[in-house]
Amino acid sequence: MNIVEIIEKKKRGESLNRAEIDYFVLGYSKDEIPDYQISALLMAIVLKGMSDDETADLTAAMISSGDVIDLSSIIGVKVDKHSTGGVGDKTSLALLPMVAACGCKGAKMSGRGLGFSGGTLDKLESIEGFNVYLSEEEFVKQVNEIGLAIIGQTADLVPADKKIYALRDVTACVDCIPLIASSIMSKKLAAGSDTILLDVKFGEGAFMTTVEEAEKLAKVMVTIGKAHGKDTKAVLSAMNQPLGLAIGNALEVKEAIATLKGEGPKDFVELLLDSGAIMLSQAKITDDIYEARHLLMKSIEDRTALEKLRLMVKYQGGNVDQIDDPDLLPKAKYVSELRGLNGYLQDISPLKLARFVNEMGGGRMTKDDIIDPKVGIVLNKKIGDHLNDDVLCYIHHEKPLSESDLKYLRSAFIAGKEKVEENTLVHRLT
Ligand code: URA
Repeated sequence: MNIVEIIEKKKRGESLNRAEIDYFVLGYSKDEIPDYQISALLMAIVLKGMSDDETADLTAAMISSGDVIDLSSIIGVKVDKHSTGGVGDKTSLALLPMVAACGCKGAKMSGRGLGFSGGTLDKLESIEGFNVYLSEEEFVKQVNEIGLAIIGQTADLVPADKKIYALRDVTACVDCIPLIASSIMSKKLAAGSDTILLDVKFGEGAFMTTVEEAEKLAKVMVTIGKAHGKDTKAVLSAMNQPLGLAIGNALEVKEAIATLKGEGPKDFVELLLDSGAIMLSQAKITDDIYEARHLLMKSIEDRTALEKLRLMVKYQGGNVDQIDDPDLLPKAKYVSELRGLNGYLQDISPLKLARFVNEMGGGRMTKDDIIDPKVGIVLNKKIGDHLNDDVLCYIHHEKPLSESDLKYLRSAFIAGKEKVEENTLVHRLT
């Protein structure tokens, strides 16, 4: 077999067979094929696409590049969820404790922020001492003992994806359904849970900008999951404005804690209840959506979900005082208000807000950048709200802001005379 012939074949728009896919994935992961040839092949895949069978083969080849985690010694149904990435998406921080409080075993491997989208591990590391690097043994033990662990991927989990993703990131090959689906599903399947819930985001602040694209991606991923014998479901959720109010690592942890105390923003709570109900049905706790929502709300009211989060933080070496008193979480030097619009808020650009937070140090420009957990933005208004020169958002910053910073930020908000409909957050289930 020859990599140039494989590139040629894809360039002509032909399908690759399993042997050819194995050849390039495993060859690249063992450093036997250079970056430039894989870059050319990836771009051919972006331009010519892949069939569902090729995407399934690509997923299987990626899984076989590393270890598959064995969670069989954990008693109970091991549930996992994955978001395709968005702005202000702190869902895992609240949802996993909620479903764990309802009897699921939450065994989750998360990622770091990528481009404009934040990452659960970075958020958790805002908590002093929190350790995301548990061994497989420690991970299994913790899930067995307290029903919940969120950790980083072990080095040997789908090493091919680490290399291929890094290359895609710098060669404009990220936004491609077969490549995204195989990247996400290979990691989810290798992580060993029994069930997978995919939260596929659509809108300006997501990889998929239209609901149609998001649905296509969801369907491909669900098909792959089912083909591997996993109960896989998907929810499509809007990312045309940030989720909840907070964007920024420590601020999002604070919002997740407030949500587990019953003080969460409406859109965020809705997503938690919708997603949680699916996870409870996947775990065979209840198929009745109303009962599921009741159980999930009860886990907030009686603080059992908060206690799960607290326990996870304790087990993973984090400072529990910061959960008990979120004011102890890292705080920025300055908090400034942004105002200046009248009428109805018609649009908020999640991308502009995320870029601003990243510029302040809340995200990474390169993979070696160190995150500043303190900085971020907390919205005071969401789409559909009325404005009379009200505060649009609070900016948590470490350096003084310039006029051009404020001008840029204000351009993320659009107001008009017409009241626009509040958008439905959870769009469709597949
Ligand atoms: N998240 C991933 O893990 N992989 C992708 O390709 C896109 C988002």
